[in-house]
Amino acid sequence: MNTLTRPARATPAARTLLVTGASRGIGAAVARRAALPRHGGWDVVVNYTRDAAAAEAVAADVRTAGRRALVVLADVGDEAQVMAMYAALDAAVAAGRLAPLAGLVNNAGVVDQPARVDEMSGARIERMFRINVFGSLWCAREAVRRMSTKHGHAGGGIVNLGSAASRIGSPGQYVDYAASKGAIDVFTLGLAREVATEGVRVNAVRPGIIETDIHASGGIPDRVQQMAPMVPMQRAGTADEVAAAILWLLSDEASYTTGAVLDVTGGR
Ligand code: NAP
Repeated sequence: MNTLTRPARATPAARTLLVTGASRGIGAAVARRAALPRHGGWDVVVNYTRDAAAAEAVAADVRTAGRRALVVLADVGDEAQVMAMYAALDAAVAAGRLAPLAGLVNNAGVVDQPARVDEMSGARIERMFRINVFGSLWCAREAVRRMSTKHGHAGGGIVNLGSAASRIGSPGQYVDYAASKGAIDVFTLGLAREVATEGVRVNAVRPGIIETDIHASGGIPDRVQQMAPMVPMQRAGTADEVAAAILWLLSDEASYTTGAVLDVTGGR
């Protein structure tokens, strides 16, 4: 059959992807890529905490790609703010300004200054787990309530951002971060099995060294240059390379993949 006679592909039903921490880095790359027709043409909720202008720029790119976007300020480490974010999403869906939720990327995450465990304050450890672990659980819980067939919905996908740190432990740098990402690996496995018959697939991506601002936020702006020689591929990855793996896990191409933890590390 040539291209002239091939029947047009049915337009997939509109659906919304919520990306936490989408104002920059991997989250922004996921949001921008998700809106493109060849990656599913998702409507996108762009969550952020600090940089409204950057979040609006990501939303503008989603709209330029022909999809709808909602920008929501919410600290995922605060359960009340997570609930308010989902309330804003629900209101937009009810008003016909967004498609129903069918995907969540639990991307928001933080590191901290290099330190040994015996130097860490309680407040630091608590912040790390509130944002990286509790935030991911709260967001996933609300997504399951809105996507699972058990709750009368059409199903969907969740991708959690882990880290190669959960295999390495990050001694002398941020063991608290590595431990929080270890929790993400186990959460991914358990939730995937829990909702496996409910139309919801749950997977994780574990990036290695990726060129984003997270390293500067942890006080090591040249971490990418320091670490690249230790990567078998001899380079850092890009946010878009991680986004590609995430969009694949969310796609129908990954229809039999759940509970998987996919390393995107250049072989590290
Ligand atoms: P990044 O460049 O630092 O961006 C982090 C994003 O998260 C920003 O959009 C930030 O928004 C947002 N954010 C921070 N705290 C938040 C909170 N409490 N609530 C909501 N949003 C929040 O980070 P990245 O490198 O893209 O990393 C994304 C994910 O990949 C993280 O989970 C990280 O642990 C993981 N990861 C990254 C690497 C790497 O090498 N880059 C490696 C392994 C794993 P504002 O700026 O507006 O606050």
